[in-house]
Amino acid sequence: MSVGSSNGKVVPADFPPPVDSPQEFVKRGLDGEDDRIEVGVAIVGGGTAGLACANRLLQLLADDEALLERLGEVPVAVLEKAKTCGGHNLSGAVMRPAALQSLFPDVTREDWRKEGFAFGEVTKEAVYLTPTSKLAIRIPTPPPFKNHGNEVISVSGLARYQQRVAEEAGAYILTETSATQLVVEDGRVVGVRSGDKGRGKDGEPLGNFEPGTDIKAQATVLAEGCWGHLTGAAIKQFGLGENREPQVWELGIKEVWKVPKPLDRLIHTAGPWPAKLSGRYGQVAGTWLYPMKDEKTGEHLVSIGLVVGLEYADATTSPHDLLQLFKTHPFVRKILEGGERVAWGAKALPGGGYWSMPKLSMPGAVIVGDAGGMVDTAALKGVHHSINSGKLAAEAIYRGLKNGESSFASYEQAIEESMTGKELYQVRNLRQPFQKGFLKGGPLVNLAIATKGKLPPGRLRWHRNDEKPMFIGNTHKRYVKPDGKYTFDKLSSVFITGNATRDDAPNHIRVQKHVPREVAETWKWMCPAGVYEIPEDAPETGPVDVIVNYTNCVQCGAITAKGGRLTTPEGGDGPLYQIT
Ligand SMILES: Cc1cc2nc3c(=O)[nH]c(=O)nc-3n(C[C@H](O)[C@H](O)[C@H](O)COP(=O)(O)OP(=O)(O)OC[C@H]3O[C@@H](n4cnc5c(N)ncnc54)[C@H](O)[C@@H]3O)c2cc1C
Ligand code: SF4
Repeated sequence: MSVGSSNGKVVPADFPPPVDSPQEFVKRGLDGEDDRIEVGVAIVGGGTAGLACANRLLQLLADDEALLERLGEVPVAVLEKAKTCGGHNLSGAVMRPAALQSLFPDVTREDWRKEGFAFGEVTKEAVYLTPTSKLAIRIPTPPPFKNHGNEVISVSGLARYQQRVAEEAGAYILTETSATQLVVEDGRVVGVRSGDKGRGKDGEPLGNFEPGTDIKAQATVLAEGCWGHLTGAAIKQFGLGENREPQVWELGIKEVWKVPKPLDRLIHTAGPWPAKLSGRYGQVAGTWLYPMKDEKTGEHLVSIGLVVGLEYADATTSPHDLLQLFKTHPFVRKILEGGERVAWGAKALPGGGYWSMPKLSMPGAVIVGDAGGMVDTAALKGVHHSINSGKLAAEAIYRGLKNGESSFASYEQAIEESMTGKELYQVRNLRQPFQKGFLKGGPLVNLAIATKGKLPPGRLRWHRNDEKPMFIGNTHKRYVKPDGKYTFDKLSSVFITGNATRDDAPNHIRVQKHVPREVAETWKWMCPAGVYEIPEDAPETGPVDVIVNYTNCVQCGAITAKGGRLTTPEGGDGPLYQIT
């Protein structure tokens, strides 16, 4: 069937992934003492939030020998599935500096730049509307886009720096280690189980097979980023999503370019182009261009990216191809002219904001950072919330453990009262109106900005991304043919991420494989890594068999929003981001 000849209005949620998370991902009871490892605090995820938590805990423990001793030989352990911390982290990223300054008060912004994860303070900025592929109209900077004084960083670089500091302070960072199960005993989280290594395609143990291990912890921190695997299981197991709005997602594609001429300002565009203006397509997209000056090499770099809300309806929406198209706008082309792409990556982020945040604590454990939905997507800001939440979680855990408690619920109140709770509350109703489309939703969004969140009143609802009826539209007709120099296809992009997933690894993507074409087309176009294929001889209408090339997966997480599920692959698999 030629894409565009159907209008099936099929809902991906009607074809749910074959997963029963509390059943599969929650282990009831720990293995015996001889078969497990014991740590003080287990942190799942060595990204910005998890490592902020590790570092703050170690700062507090440095002055408390008695508690340090009580936590045993491994007081703080971080489990990270990437080859190294930073390997799976990607962000814009322009960061509000206060949280990092508060975590490491003796380290200056100059030091950040020398360390290689920060690239300069924002002194000039501009926001444009791009009504067409040729026009860019500068507008006064709306409050969410104000970035004066913020710092352009790489979260991948920041994670590597935080890892080094944490290791020097005594943290055990277990890289290439996926946490695959939450261990619950007597209604309380008592640790996690690490994944097996060395299984074949059908789960059979290979020659180098190493079984996973139970890791018993006095406190567990879920810092898995955008809807983590164990976080999802915990939300279901402990009912943490009750009376909250459903989480919704956005998908960002980023490239880093080395350019001959420095970009002199930070730029955002608020669309509608390269997305479609008509509400029928349900597309809301924004882009960024951030200047990065590498202090070590003197090179001028530009971070360029595009974020699309995953509430769209046209199955042929491809965030990767929309970014390639965006680069053909004359105003962008001028910035990248004569340059060279040095990095590419993709990652989803939680978009629901305040009302979609799950309850952040459960007996024995807490949730920090993106895993807890702490992102303001109107401003595209989450890094400082991740650091802040990691720090506040560490302080609550420290207080709890000192008092011999296993509840760390004071963390929730601490978040609510901190800049994270206050900032997210202020923008609680800002993004939902865009569910009606760019034009219809725009006035309400402006009202929310103008009244600093006082209007519209009440709690605006979110609709689940996977409940959006999909149709096969014509967005794909806009995409450009990659030239390999300035615009690129998905597979050559995945190649430069250093993606290294064993060809005979078990499949970590859970989707139904016999689905209506609308669902299959949605996955095919959405996936930035080209994982889903529809056979050429598949029937024009009705169900098709989807081919899942899971070894290409860069673990962006978007499939979880549109009817599938990313589970944790074997530790060490996936991309190895350096500067994203
Ligand atoms: C495209 C994009 C642009 C953005 N731009 C900005 C910006 O300009 N400014 C800003 O402030 N914010 C921005 N954000 C948001 C910001 O990047 C995030 O809020 C922040 O980085 C989240 O940090 P985190 O530590 O919570 O999660 P992550 O960075 O996702 O880290 C989670 C870590 O946990 C690991 N992990 C997950 N599950 C497991 C498991 N089961 N076992 C072991 N390891 C596991 C992952 O590999 C990962 O390293 C952007 C986000 C995206 C996606
Ligand atoms: S298969 Fe992997 S890369 Fe593709 S959408 Fe799913 S999580 Fe992202």
